Amino acid sequence: MSEMSSELFRGKTVCLFLHRGCSLLCPYCVSNASKIKPKKSIVDKIGMEKYAHNILKMIRGVRPVTIAFEGPGECPESKYFLPLAKTFFREGHDIQIQTHLQTSRIIESFLSAFERNKVEHRVTINASYHLGTYLDRGKKGEELREAWLDKHLPTVARYGCEVRVITPLTPAVLNDKQFENDLRYFKKLPNVTPKPIPLGHIYKSKHYPESYTSEQRKRVLYLLQKYNPDNWKQPSDPKHFDILSKLHLKKHNCHVASNIIQVLYEGGLRYCQSGKTFGNIDEIEKVDCPPFIKNPIPCKADTCHCSYMGYHYCMAPNFLSIDDYCDSV
Ligand code: SF4
Ligand code: SF4
Repeated sequence: MSEMSSELFRGKTVCLFLHRGCSLLCPYCVSNASKIKPKKSIVDKIGMEKYAHNILKMIRGVRPVTIAFEGPGECPESKYFLPLAKTFFREGHDIQIQTHLQTSRIIESFLSAFERNKVEHRVTINASYHLGTYLDRGKKGEELREAWLDKHLPTVARYGCEVRVITPLTPAVLNDKQFENDLRYFKKLPNVTPKPIPLGHIYKSKHYPESYTSEQRKRVLYLLQKYNPDNWKQPSDPKHFDILSKLHLKKHNCHVASNIIQVLYEGGLRYCQSGKTFGNIDEIEKVDCPPFIKNPIPCKADTCHCSYMGYHYCMAPNFLSIDDYCDSV
């Protein structure tokens, strides 16, 4: 890997999926949080001490590592979130938190437990602004939106850590007159970056992004190009492919296994959404530690289910531009 390409990676990351539960119940939730009765997770099964111990054992000797608390499922609503986040942070690892941010009080308990200069540099918050959910809920939704903007975002942003505001673009969000003002407001805050994203699941019985009308599609592309251009690059000739299409990167070298390990709800370990599990955190002695693979490996999946990973771990490090990609498919 060249020096230039290695700058693309944010470093090694272990993604933890602590539980499937979430109180917000967005209608487009990928995990159908509203329909699933949360099962016991691997942390319930083996206990928090063993879970933390096995994760630390798995990454022993690798520095720095980001421990990312991931969704779907709101990690800060798990009783294990706070003690685990503190443990990993004290062990010298960076922390990333995916959250709907209605739990800002719990996240603040974590942030305020450490010195500000450490938090500023070593914590990142991926804060989902679920405006689509709020717009669908009338008066109650207006209150939730107001609380998100006036209370929850400032509560965490004042600790100085990087906050990325992720907004799934539902049809109602695309029509909302205030939304671009919100995006401009996020841009003005020194440590906050807006990151609108297209819908990628079923919403009101329709599959997205396929079900966007041509007008909605235009608006989505405009918002992505204007406010989230690093992650969504459009080819020079979008005739046969646009950035909302799925990526097919089979056989291309991918660096994901050198950089990411996902620890799933039941403890399975895998490198990316499209790959198989290679072990379980419960039986860490059976896994080669640390299991970050040294060299890139050819993608085996027919479809890359996370275009962010496709771009950042396969295309960009191999200098495969969107135009080159379009020529190769
Ligand atoms: S906040 Fe996330 S996990 Fe919770 S319901 Fe919404 S999309 Fe699902
Ligand atoms: S290209 Fe996508 S699907 Fe293939 S290995 Fe990389 S992240 Fe996984």
